[in-house]
Amino acid sequence: MAQVITGARVGDLFGTYWENGHIVLEGDRIARAGPGPAPDVPGAEVLDADGRLVTPGLVNAHAHLYSALARGIPLKRFDPTSFGEILEQLWWKLDRALDLDAVHRSGVVGALGHLRSGVTALFDHHASPAAIEGSLTQLKWALTEVGLRADLCYEVTDRGGAAERNAGIQENVRFAREERVPGFFASHMGLHASFTLSDDALAKARTAAEDLGLGYHVHLAEGKEDPVDALGKHGVRTAERLDRFRILREGSLLIHGIQVSGVELDLLSKRGGTVVHNPRSNMNNAVGVAPVPAMLAKGIRVALGTDGFGSDILTEALTARLLAHHASNDPTTLPDPQLLALLQENYALAERAFGAPLGKVAPGYTADLVVWDYVPPTPLDAGSLLGHLLFGAISEGIRPRTVLVAGVPKLQDGVVTGFDEEAALAAAGEAARKLWKRI
Ligand SMILES: [Zn+2]
Repeated sequence: MAQVITGARVGDLFGTYWENGHIVLEGDRIARAGPGPAPDVPGAEVLDADGRLVTPGLVNAHAHLYSALARGIPLKRFDPTSFGEILEQLWWKLDRALDLDAVHRSGVVGALGHLRSGVTALFDHHASPAAIEGSLTQLKWALTEVGLRADLCYEVTDRGGAAERNAGIQENVRFAREERVPGFFASHMGLHASFTLSDDALAKARTAAEDLGLGYHVHLAEGKEDPVDALGKHGVRTAERLDRFRILREGSLLIHGIQVSGVELDLLSKRGGTVVHNPRSNMNNAVGVAPVPAMLAKGIRVALGTDGFGSDILTEALTARLLAHHASNDPTTLPDPQLLALLQENYALAERAFGAPLGKVAPGYTADLVVWDYVPPTPLDAGSLLGHLLFGAISEGIRPRTVLVAGVPKLQDGVVTGFDEEAALAAAGEAARKLWKRI
């Protein structure tokens, strides 16, 4: 059935903006869009946006849904002096305590957070070493309940020994072959990071990934641990080591890229793949600042993720700018065209993963749309749309009122549809209580 959105301020991050616009949807696609009142479409369901801003759904290029039950977690000991100790004292304790039920519940809570942040597609990196087999299917079910698109992978690592490592590779293979709704799920070969992976692990993961045509989703030089380990054990820097296994390639997601040399940046620009920048997580872990302007100057593609630090990609984008200003002592660093390039790369990644055109308000594009609860208090045009989204998000906390995924409302007037959110959150709270007891 056709749907019509009318009375909307319609815009996207590729230069489209109509002050009083309309969108006609047919099935899961945009059929028509333009300025002025909507045409008469017999039998169509009409959504009057009443002057609110309507944009395509956002994309998160790096998430950790499994971290969703960590909010408020009481830790007996938390006095890390390095990034490695943050992993040991918090994340590696939490992920080992996850069972399949907790994976599912964390997936639901994380997916709801993304929905309520206007994110309709995400790339997740998952770890649950005591419950590996079937964990990606639990996440798939959780995301299906909430109604989002997701590219999933399991984190292969040697930190739990060879059996767990092999089970991690196998989970990636199993999920890549699993039946799923086309356009809603995709997958990568997940790798933790060079410093927890032996040559044997990288070789085995590569064989499996190349057999299936999968790109990699891997943390790259997040903290100093990664280059120190690669230089000490292998005599090369982190990106150079990964390149020995052909991991730097088109379709790979290279997360962070902070402790990288000029030679590594040249290598990244030659090999392809996308670096994903996660500024809030980087600041929280005190791991340094990714050289995003230098990457862009070398032609490296850069996208934006949250790294499990919430799901609000608009605040992440603004933080990318604030961090760039702060680190460079230059308030002109990471201007609008560069920040837009990051957000546009998120859409390019999603288009490639899900095989559907995403991110523009144009005929043929997928009908993933957000009606923001936002009527701008100052003039808005194509050139200021990014500024309205970023500063509206930070000053007024603008949130979605209605979210459509493939033309189907998943959030309607602030209420999650087809899903008992209250019951799901109560079950998640109970799962968190049990999870925390196991840590
Ligand atoms: Zn991460």
